[in-house]
Amino acid sequence: MLKLLLLAIVFWLIYTILKRYRSSVDQKPQSREKPEDMVQCAHCQLHLPRSESIKSGALHYCSETHRQQHQP
Ligand SMILES: [Zn+2]
Repeated sequence: MLKLLLLAIVFWLIYTILKRYRSSVDQKPQSREKPEDMVQCAHCQLHLPRSESIKSGALHYCSETHRQQHQP
């Protein structure tokens, strides 16, 4: 019975170490990621990443609704 308990502890330790190792590996590429260009919504002045913005000519908008509202 004691052997089984020791085995369980060993497995738990290996599992914890692997989990910690994996999360430290996963975090590295995220911190290296360069910040994306920020643009400002022409309607509400909200800042958002360029890839999430809606472009209309030289202007950017945070949503399709604001793009429609801003146009005359
Ligand atoms: Zn907006």
